[in-house]
Amino acid sequence: MAAEPEPAVSRRRLEVRGLVQGVGFRPLVYRLAQELRLGGWVRNHSGGVTIEIEGAAGAVDAFIARLRAAARPPIRIDTVEVEEVAPRGEQEFSIEPSVSHGGAVALVLPDLATCDACLAEILDPRDRRYRYAFTNCTHCGPRFTIVRDVPYDRVRTTMAGFVMCPACAGEYEDPVDRRFHAQPNACPECGPRLTLVAADGTRIPGDPLTGAVGRLIRGEILAIKGLGGYHLACDARNPAAVAELRARKHRDAKPLAVMVADLAMARELGEVSAAEEALLASPAAPIVLLARRADSGLSDQLAPDCTTVGVMLAYTPLHHLLLRGVGRPLVMTSGNLSDEPIAHEDADARRRLAGLVDAFLVHDRPIQRRCDDSVVRIWRDQPLFLRRSRGYAPAPLELEDDAEEVVLAVGGHQKNTFCLTRGREAFVSHHVGDLENDLALDAFETGISDFERLFELRPAVIAHDLHPDYLSSRYALERAERENLEVVGVQHHHAHIAACLADRGHPGPVIGLSLDGTGWGPDGTVWGGEVLLADRAGYRRLGRLRPFALAGGGAAVRQGWRVALALARDAGEDFADEWPGVAPRLWAGVVEMLTRDVQCVLTSSAGRLFDGFSALLGVRAVSRYEGEGAVALEGACEPAEGALPFAVNKKDLDELDWRPAVSAALAERRRGVPPGETATRFHRGLAIGLATLCEKARQDTGVGTVAVSGGCFQNITLLSAVSEELERRGFDILTHRRVPPNDGGLSLGQAVVARARVRGCISCV
Ligand code: ZN
Ligand code: ZN
Ligand code: FE
Repeated sequence: MAAEPEPAVSRRRLEVRGLVQGVGFRPLVYRLAQELRLGGWVRNHSGGVTIEIEGAAGAVDAFIARLRAAARPPIRIDTVEVEEVAPRGEQEFSIEPSVSHGGAVALVLPDLATCDACLAEILDPRDRRYRYAFTNCTHCGPRFTIVRDVPYDRVRTTMAGFVMCPACAGEYEDPVDRRFHAQPNACPECGPRLTLVAADGTRIPGDPLTGAVGRLIRGEILAIKGLGGYHLACDARNPAAVAELRARKHRDAKPLAVMVADLAMARELGEVSAAEEALLASPAAPIVLLARRADSGLSDQLAPDCTTVGVMLAYTPLHHLLLRGVGRPLVMTSGNLSDEPIAHEDADARRRLAGLVDAFLVHDRPIQRRCDDSVVRIWRDQPLFLRRSRGYAPAPLELEDDAEEVVLAVGGHQKNTFCLTRGREAFVSHHVGDLENDLALDAFETGISDFERLFELRPAVIAHDLHPDYLSSRYALERAERENLEVVGVQHHHAHIAACLADRGHPGPVIGLSLDGTGWGPDGTVWGGEVLLADRAGYRRLGRLRPFALAGGGAAVRQGWRVALALARDAGEDFADEWPGVAPRLWAGVVEMLTRDVQCVLTSSAGRLFDGFSALLGVRAVSRYEGEGAVALEGACEPAEGALPFAVNKKDLDELDWRPAVSAALAERRRGVPPGETATRFHRGLAIGLATLCEKARQDTGVGTVAVSGGCFQNITLLSAVSEELERRGFDILTHRRVPPNDGGLSLGQAVVARARVRGCISCV
């Protein structure tokens, strides 16, 4: 009788790409191979992870199937290429040392929120990491904010000064341990420690955590050293503490974010959908804007005029321990004065924050680079980024086009980010902020050189905004001159639309609706309400908002009543209002400017139009931060039927004429219609008008896809209204999902425009 045939042996090589390094992927592979009794090895290399696996053919198949199923965030498998190779009779499975090719691509991951396993340990009195604020593993913990250099190893992080105790070292070296090669691995024996320090710099005795919790409960304001910088914290349900924090920070009106212990506490504050829950609990743990509950118990001072509240879950062990100790939501706002970058260095933080806080909760693990919290909203079950920073940067965004040249795009002036591209990857930076002062400019320049070193990139091309006075533009031009680099200037609103194309992997051409506050227009006016026909390489302006005067230029940005006055006069309305805080002389001066057309800048800015209507309706006449008028107008919206009338005029460009809407809004106001109803009709009327412009553009060009971008589309009332009107007319719509529609997305747009231009792409518009 013939012997039973041997089961077929198979050996396969797997090339795995995605987020697979520094996240516990190799231990996962190892465990799976052990379970299925397979031989072979797994190895990191610069482009990803290679696995060779050998054993019974059925088990090898099972391994491949189960690998994808077992990969949970933060692990993300993008592609697996499988190749059959000759069996070698290998029975054992091993984790091999990493190999780095010449000119290797370094991998630096974003910081990741504390995982469930680590959380369970710090809450377990029997665990050796009970109440230990720096617990982490390969699934969670600091990355981007502690890396000094590459490759990513402990000696090149800010953990270099801490020597692992034998217990930690054992975990670090054990391939099946969750802490295998967890570079920041630490415990109370060997790792960083907390200290509580009084405002005058003296150390406060006793347990720092207990002390900090007690002070927060008593209503004090604390500076807390976190992952990417210092936070200012206080009890979010204590109105006096919140008001005091606002006063000390000189932050009059901008909403403050709140941190909660868990999803249950988040649900007390706002409505949480399934998509919002998933985002809150994701490893990035961003601030998520939720619809605020009426019974949230939060101080009214937290987010005046807003119907939303920015909520994030505790994302480090320190946060978890604090939140559980205090038992109520905490304000957690970046530790800076308004307009300055977040403080992240200890001495600097002590100096800058000393007058703002009652005590400092600090530790001795240095922060290598600052990184603000990300801010995301869910719209139609998809993320809409308002700020893409901690938890996301510096993970590369995949591009659908390719370019050999390394491009540096320096971004805009406000909400600055910069971006470096290589091949099909775009490294969009963390949030740098408004480049208004030396501190911010320094953060910008350091950030760029830092990224170039970490990712081993030398730019050949620099892209910048066409505005000659932006500090980012000046940096680009000076550096291009000094280093003899190719330089590409990109128009602001084209960059917004290109960012949307890159965000969604669309080649164009599209009709671009680019609506924001301010951007340099090549015709000498300020643009901001534009209809463009655009692809990556070029654009053509098809339409715009009817321009109006900004009396006093920059002053009109914060004083919406100046815009209201200009709009009303242009609409032929006799308009005088009592605006508290506006002196009659100032008023008369602005009337004079408008009448004689002096110190007036023309603009088609949609952002300013919002400010103007906000003032016309008596919602907000003076903004304490840019865009507050617009934010308040959205916040004021109440259910209402109908739409304010906008007209479309055919000139050299199609022009959306807001004058009928101004007259209608004033008539409603005189009749005593609640401003919230008129505000809703304003949004809807503007959306109908914009959709009409898009229809005309479609007739002229045959293009049926609309990309919407620009800071105005952070307003989801507008975004929803515009989308509905476009859908009704049969358009395909592209909205942002990976970078913000605001100026935080500009750098990505500039980069892809520059890539197209240096490749010699001819724009088909
Ligand atoms: Zn963990
Ligand atoms: Zn230890
Ligand atoms: Fe913009």
